[in-house]
Amino acid sequence: MDYKKLFSEYALSMRVSDIRELLKVVESGRVISFAGGLPDPRTFPKEEIASIAKYVVENYGDKALQYSPTRGVKLLINAIKDFSQRQGVRVREDDGIIVTVGSQQGLYLLALSIINPGDYIVTEEPSYLGMIQAFSARKTRFITIPIDENGMKTHLLESAIKKVLSEGGRVKAIYTVPTCHNPAGTTMPIERRKELLEVAERYDLLVIEDDPYSVITFEKTSVEYLKTMDKSGRVVYLSTVSKILAPGLRIGWSIGPEPVISKMELVKQAVDLHTPTFPQYIVAEAMNRRVIDNHIPFIKAIYKEKRDTILNAFEEYMVEGTKWTKPIGGLFVWTWFPDWVNSRKLLEIAVKNGVVFVPGDSFYPNGGGYNTARINYSFPTKEELIEGVKRLATSIRELKSTLS
Ligand SMILES: *Cc1c(COP(=O)(O)O)cnc(C)c1O
Repeated sequence: MDYKKLFSEYALSMRVSDIRELLKVVESGRVISFAGGLPDPRTFPKEEIASIAKYVVENYGDKALQYSPTRGVKLLINAIKDFSQRQGVRVREDDGIIVTVGSQQGLYLLALSIINPGDYIVTEEPSYLGMIQAFSARKTRFITIPIDENGMKTHLLESAIKKVLSEGGRVKAIYTVPTCHNPAGTTMPIERRKELLEVAERYDLLVIEDDPYSVITFEKTSVEYLKTMDKSGRVVYLSTVSKILAPGLRIGWSIGPEPVISKMELVKQAVDLHTPTFPQYIVAEAMNRRVIDNHIPFIKAIYKEKRDTILNAFEEYMVEGTKWTKPIGGLFVWTWFPDWVNSRKLLEIAVKNGVVFVPGDSFYPNGGGYNTARINYSFPTKEELIEGVKRLATSIRELKSTLS
């Protein structure tokens, strides 16, 4: 068969990432990986989940193993509402809630619901890869706003949006990870959050607040959820159990204006009918028994220790001229190497030295970021974190010696 003729333009436009191929090769062996994005499995409350799973089958079996509504199981939707409100997320009277297969599906459903090919959304640069992929499926164009150690430079928002509008572009939404950004590890202070909402208001844009990490920030913050600050029903808030319970359950949710949520529901019906029922009951039960709430301090302690370990190792071993973010939560440290470093060249040397990371340009939808890198600290052990930073610094020095 002539398969070329078979495939859609979209499928043909997709490329296997060369980085992912490289990482596959190194997955085995003694290579230390800063490249992944996996939670530490020690944070999974395995015993509690085992007993809840048994309880759910025995007590809700007929429902939990059956088809269920596209919007989500009522028991879980109510549990999500209570859990969100306990965390300080404002759920408005007129908000809708939809349960999705991870936040990833929420992003995809939003893209299908609001984007016509060629429409723009505004986002940080660097930006979350899962979002770039979900929105690219609808041929979305991106207005990218640079970051500093405090996240999106919101004072650049208005002029960037104006420019595209003046060229006849259609701008639909601002997407942001305001707290513990992936990949940047930054958290936006309150003034920037206000400015972002003001700009959204002025240009009548939807705001997509992607928030998997707020609950497990390990330093006190005075920041407020965009969802809670929202005055006009323009924020869709996405969260997930992936970083606070277990990503394999694939349970996420979106809370936002009912007209938006009900469009997502319509679209979801065609995608997968509904999110698997069984894990919905497990998560509902875990929330109602306060398993997640009670587990949060333990998760914070694990990640804080690792964050401290990697930041100390950076201080001690990193090559002069390198800058990095100091995350208060999440899984990543973002690194700006000196200008003369090309991260892809560096990666080739680093692989030989037994350490890998993701070159930062992967997170720049409009190109750029050639001297940056995303460093994951949640999965390696403490010893690996220290040894990995040493190997990274050695690799930078080796790269320098090949240039001079
Ligand atoms: C980890 C993460 C998610 C979670 O995605 P799931 O599909 O729920 O596993 C979403 N957004 C960001 C920015 C993340 O880092």
